[in-house]
Amino acid sequence: MNSHGKDQSRIRDVIIIGTGFSGLGLAIGLKREGKIDFVVLERGHDVGGTWRDNTYPGAACDIPSHLYSYSFRPNPNWSSVYARQQEIFDYLRETADQENIRPHICFNTNVLRANWDDAVSAWVVQTETGSYRARSLVSAAGHLSDPAFPDIDGLHSFAGKVIHSARWDHSFQPEGQRIAVIGTGASAVQIVPELAKTAATLTIFQRSAPYIVPRRDTAFTAAEKGMFARMPKTAQLLRNELFWFNEGRFLQRRRVPSFIAVVSAMAQGHLEAQVNDPDLKRKVTPDYEVGCKRILLSNDYYPALQQSNVHLETSPIERITESGLTCRDGSAHEVDALILATGFEATDLPIAEVIFGRDGHRLADHWRDRPRAFASASMSGYPNLFMMLGPNTGLGAGSMVYMAETQANYIRGALNYIIDNGAVIEPSLEAETTYVSRIDERSEGTVWVAGGCKSWYLHKDSGKLTALWPDFMRQFRVENGTFTPTGYDVRESA
Ligand code: NAP
Repeated sequence: MNSHGKDQSRIRDVIIIGTGFSGLGLAIGLKREGKIDFVVLERGHDVGGTWRDNTYPGAACDIPSHLYSYSFRPNPNWSSVYARQQEIFDYLRETADQENIRPHICFNTNVLRANWDDAVSAWVVQTETGSYRARSLVSAAGHLSDPAFPDIDGLHSFAGKVIHSARWDHSFQPEGQRIAVIGTGASAVQIVPELAKTAATLTIFQRSAPYIVPRRDTAFTAAEKGMFARMPKTAQLLRNELFWFNEGRFLQRRRVPSFIAVVSAMAQGHLEAQVNDPDLKRKVTPDYEVGCKRILLSNDYYPALQQSNVHLETSPIERITESGLTCRDGSAHEVDALILATGFEATDLPIAEVIFGRDGHRLADHWRDRPRAFASASMSGYPNLFMMLGPNTGLGAGSMVYMAETQANYIRGALNYIIDNGAVIEPSLEAETTYVSRIDERSEGTVWVAGGCKSWYLHKDSGKLTALWPDFMRQFRVENGTFTPTGYDVRESA
């Protein structure tokens, strides 16, 4: 027994890595079913994944909460259309408590290495606090978990405070400070208006301009919350409406002209309404097609850029020095603090570096050309391994909770199949390759591939769309929501 009181010696049915929306959702499904013996390994001190870790000022979700929550745990009390980080984190913590999942979780347990041991047909997972064994392994480590640090000369020489948006340092007091923010993505547009309130100077270093549309957020009244609580069908109707509205947004990404025109006009109108200065207007006008990168929601980003203490720098950063940043146009910016709103290691997932399959092959090597998975969930050469929110599961628009629930359902089916049949399963290379080719065909012509931008949705080396699912959310569920052994090589467990 380890310090968590969880027996490490026996071979369990499954080990889950991570307690974000996906890992927690799967664990709840298994617990409710009551048949499968599982343990969850979590490197953090609490559940919540990206919603535990991203505590930067202004952090909030830009998918409406009545959709961005578990279908099996509706929350009538969401305070507003778009919940903030603390409220989502609290929702996940309460969910873990009420579903009694915590006894299954080993917190502060960082996975160092996971090996498939063919002799016993089990995964052996080494952590900082000991090793665990199980017939199956599910990585729910997520793709928005590990901060990406920019490869800029001199970053380490900077003498002031450096904070990544995903690991906010709450001892940092922005009041009166000269602050630089690198990045203009979803995190940055939420941080900038907050820091702009009190910073002495705030300089935003933009590599490419984002499209921004209005954030139509309103607080739910007590009467509305009461209605959702007393008549759960009303919350379900709202959820359905939000779901189908978001499904419609896929048609923009598919570049259906009338749908593109609507969102284009919305972004253009927002910019025109909020920015008067022609020079700033030029700087914040994107040079790629709308939807190629995430379309951002903000009412206060453009106004913040026009505050007298705020400056938008568009000359590329040449290097970082002990005291600030210098740009290609020769400008130098002395700052006290550097905020890196530079995103995540989302395409080359760090967890793939520590997973070793049949024949000892590292998953990162299997993915060297591009991340690939059969049914966006399992890999040839990696028996009884399932990946949640791995290759081709992300969305340009829509709720990742829906995708996670779809995968949890698929994986539960696979785990039951493995147990009921005493089986070891892995997709054939042929099935994996066919699935991935089909993904590539579907990706062709989408705005993510053809929209003229570079984003984390595309794999750096191959240029393939590896992060996103190139179809409707509903279609993902139809194709990948129910496990069948078709496409899998099945053999008897040792
Ligand atoms: P991101 O979308 O990857 O944005 C990173 C930003 O940093 C981009 O503007 C990027 O420029 C810039 N950047 C990266 N490396 C750079 C370099 N070396 N030099 C200059 N600029 C550099 O990261 P994020 O904003 O953290 O968002 C990541 C994802 O998290 C989102 O797509 C979304 O899925 C999720 N998210 C959601 C919310 C929400 O719901 N509101 C909030 C935050 C995050 P380029 O654009 O030129 O690459």
